[in-house]
Amino acid sequence: VLQVRELRKSYGETEVLKGIDLDVHRGEVIAIIGPSGSGKTTLIRTLNAMEPINSGDVLFHGKPVGYARDASGAKKPVSDRVVAATRAEVGMVFQQFNLFPHKTVIENVTFAPDYLRTASRAEIRERAMALLAKVGMDAHAEKYPHQLSGGQQQRVAIARALAMEPEALLFDEPTSALDPELVDEVLRVMTELAAEGLTMVVVTHEMRFAREVADWVVFMDQGVVVEEGPAEQVFDRPEHDRTRRFLKRVH
Ligand code: ATP
Repeated sequence: VLQVRELRKSYGETEVLKGIDLDVHRGEVIAIIGPSGSGKTTLIRTLNAMEPINSGDVLFHGKPVGYARDASGAKKPVSDRVVAATRAEVGMVFQQFNLFPHKTVIENVTFAPDYLRTASRAEIRERAMALLAKVGMDAHAEKYPHQLSGGQQQRVAIARALAMEPEALLFDEPTSALDPELVDEVLRVMTELAAEGLTMVVVTHEMRFAREVADWVVFMDQGVVVEEGPAEQVFDRPEHDRTRRFLKRVH
């Protein structure tokens, strides 16, 4: 579904992604782990054109994400419409939830589909309520974000992302801003989505989730993929010293 090839990205003089290759297949759950500052967030943001890239390619079904190539192979910009269409296909759940504060829960979930007129208003609302039920938030449909706990807000944010019926969903440290006792309710929803076959890429510090739910684990350090493989392999039989040291620190 998504392919990253030789991806490089710098902020000013600092290169934060130094030639990344990554493949995300349909129905796969990929966990990206690694120390702070290794480039995980930057990488996941390139997957739906939230972060421009310097060189290499990010492809969704073989088509560049957030840019096009002209006849000579040079990158050229694409319209906001094309970018929006990509983001509808490849959704994102953020660390800080990013709900619209002045909209109710149900309005947060129906806003984008209403705007894009993906179906009739009644259908969109009915589907939104079903998604809220799925994340256990249907009883709170008329509340505002500030009336909810962080875990509840994040579950609404997941329902909102699902309302676009994305083909893949990106999660950027979805539980990092939560009080510890609220982490599990969000991970439970994510585990359920994984079991249903949703294609997911998850930047996470939750090693138990990565080990138990991810099909494929990618360990990054200092802008490169140091090691990747099935969860059992990366966690139980890491090949690289850097991976071993990181895992020791976080366990
Ligand atoms: P964390 O786990 O702490 O979120 P990360 O692995 O997600 O870390 P990134 O957030 O991708 O790492 O950051 C990679 C590097 O890029 C860091 O050194 C960071 O300081 C730098 N960086 C990130 N965003 C910017 C920006 N907008 N401008 C300049 N430098 C940035």
